[in-house]
Amino acid sequence: MREDKKMSIVTERTGSPKAKPKAEDYGFGRFFSDHMFTADCSSDLGWHSPRIVPYRPLELDPGAAVLHYGQTIFEGLKAFHGVDGKIRLFRPEMNWKRLEASADRLCMRAPDLDLFMEGVRHLIRTDRDWVPTQDGTALYLRPTLIGTESFLGVRPADEYLFYVIASPVGSYYGDGLASVKIWIEREYSRAAPGGIGAAKTGGNYAASLKASVAAKKRGYAQVLWTDAGRHEFVEEVGTMNVFFVIGDAVVTPALSGTILPGVMRDSTIGLLRSWDVKVEERPVALRDVLEAHGRGELKEVFGTGTAAQISPVNELGADDGSYKIGDGGVGPLSSRLYTHFMDLNYGRIEDRMGWLSEVR
Ligand SMILES: *Cc1c(COP(=O)(O)O)cnc(C)c1O
Repeated sequence: MREDKKMSIVTERTGSPKAKPKAEDYGFGRFFSDHMFTADCSSDLGWHSPRIVPYRPLELDPGAAVLHYGQTIFEGLKAFHGVDGKIRLFRPEMNWKRLEASADRLCMRAPDLDLFMEGVRHLIRTDRDWVPTQDGTALYLRPTLIGTESFLGVRPADEYLFYVIASPVGSYYGDGLASVKIWIEREYSRAAPGGIGAAKTGGNYAASLKASVAAKKRGYAQVLWTDAGRHEFVEEVGTMNVFFVIGDAVVTPALSGTILPGVMRDSTIGLLRSWDVKVEERPVALRDVLEAHGRGELKEVFGTGTAAQISPVNELGADDGSYKIGDGGVGPLSSRLYTHFMDLNYGRIEDRMGWLSEVR
């Protein structure tokens, strides 16, 4: 198989580079850089033909597995432009590991670590001038794996396309950290036991849209997902992992198979423990959270994810009323975590955990 040979990536540069948007217009995922990385996999050749090509539409057979039976998984990670001019990725090997786990759950063939890393790194090198320099901005990378074989029988595809695209993204928060209102979801479910909730796959997002639209109509930014059985246990917040500061402990739902194992979740737990903050990973009953609120012990609620890093919650909404968290602003622990991650990402403080990886 060609996978064993040294990787040589062919580069086809664009003849017509795009005009770069202004940093204040970035938003999230609205613009894409000039190039993309692609590689193909077939049963006889394995992974082959890694290349950088101009960003352009894919050519896909209308019968491709991804379009009918949802064999699609993705990753999301950021490249940061440090204050020293170096470009760094945050724990990219964890994204590869998770891609591999998602691929296994959906019976797909994943690229190996080298192909994944070289794809991401080579795209960043090629589109280096798309890595924004303003504080709070980053180049967001979206590695994606899809089943491309054309057939209408239901079975795992034999052919796959792996590609990486890149989007300059703005600071999630205009100036300073802001907090949002969240609706406690007890009608719709995102993921069921034995299902695909732990895989980063389109199907979970498709399942989540209805609840998220309904929450927005009610004036909430996102939903707090509860378990699909009885809606008694808390799982995630929107597309982020969720943390509660109750008394002097930080509590987060244990990974149960219905929860996406976030890189930021793992990093937040690691960082808190390094600060000697007590962290409990366990099933979190909604009732316990609301009772803690009643006793005045629910001090902070926040979500973690690559896009926003830390997303503080100032209110939980339900049919029977709403629960204000803290003083409605950003809590001290959310704020400390956010500042620490930002300082790490932009190379302003020492990377004691060895989480950042330079792209040369
Ligand atoms: C991607 C994702 C997260 C956050 O993962 P990070 O690796 O921290 O970005 C959390 N929940 C869901 C459902 C996700 O898709």
